[in-house]
Amino acid sequence: MALRCLSQSSTTPSYLSKIWGLRMHGTKAAASVVEEHVSGAEREDEEYADVDWDKLGFSLVQTDYMFATRSCRDGNFEQGYLSRYGNIELNPAAGILNYGQGLIEGMKAYRGEDGRILLFRPELNAMRMKIGAERMCMHSPSVHQFIEGVKQTVLANRRWVPPPGKGSLYLRPLLFGTGASLGVAAASEYTFLVFGSPVQNYFKEGTAALNLYVEKVIPRAYLGGTGGVKAISNYGPVLEVMRRAKSRGFSDVLYLDAETGKNIEEVSAANIFLVKGNTIVTPATSGTILGGITRKSVIEIALDLGYKVEERRVPVEELKEAEEVFCTGTAAGVASVGSITYQNTRSLLPLWIHVSEHNIYLYAWT
Ligand code: PLP
Repeated sequence: MALRCLSQSSTTPSYLSKIWGLRMHGTKAAASVVEEHVSGAEREDEEYADVDWDKLGFSLVQTDYMFATRSCRDGNFEQGYLSRYGNIELNPAAGILNYGQGLIEGMKAYRGEDGRILLFRPELNAMRMKIGAERMCMHSPSVHQFIEGVKQTVLANRRWVPPPGKGSLYLRPLLFGTGASLGVAAASEYTFLVFGSPVQNYFKEGTAALNLYVEKVIPRAYLGGTGGVKAISNYGPVLEVMRRAKSRGFSDVLYLDAETGKNIEEVSAANIFLVKGNTIVTPATSGTILGGITRKSVIEIALDLGYKVEERRVPVEELKEAEEVFCTGTAAGVASVGSITYQNTRSLLPLWIHVSEHNIYLYAWT
């Protein structure tokens, strides 16, 4: 089985470089090819959108098309269609506007050196949306319908997929209640919509190590709540906490558990890992933490590499014992943490490296 590398390797001798330097062979992590039938010559002629790829950050760049499909009362989704990217119409009594029935996903399409466009484990995003939909009492597209919608969006916007090594097309699948209801009830109809935007680094730090602020007062999620799924309602309540931390120069916020306020959970849109010798530690996803696809992939690779992986409660004090701390997420990639500020004390982590999307290896089975 041949493996193709889609990106450069890190040269830094640490856990992170080892993990990205290792092929995903033997793990369940694999990339999925968006289209197969484009010849090499066609790829060379490919036109790109008028974008300064070196100046991409992580803000919305509107692309050409979006994909949408609606569910009927029986819960099945119709055949989806592409339309020009633009505003959508909603009934003022729509479930999303009144009762917050909404889920998001986040995934990326990359262009390989050979021009092929790849998605990373899209079936996991599809399955996560299904689980979220069950929790939020919503209809959901099948895994096939989800992936089909994502692929159609990528192909219709392929000129917006950055050249190899210059970023990716971030894809935002949305599921939301569009059926109208006055009383508190689940909507009778849902829309599944996918749009994309070319992106590079998520954090303003670029590839430099992150400075995290540990939030003591406001938790991100509660036991029995929706922290474990990608409900849109998880993000609004922490925007002010994030704004405050960023205005003080921090990269992002690290949240503690609501129950005791003593254990770390996750960052606003990324999971967190500690490295201690041959052991990698990460908070267990027991309902309040999102089961990240990058998290899952990193755990699988770490196990393949012979690391011991512990998924458990992680007291905030344990951060002091870590040799490396890093965050994982589709948007963030794998990002090193350089300092953590807790109770007004800033602790510098003993070891940190520069890691970015450029350092991440993705492999396709050819
Ligand atoms: N945690 C939260 C709250 C997130 O929003 C995300 C991003 O989706 C993650 C973790 C990382 O998940 P993934 O690796 O699937 O992108």
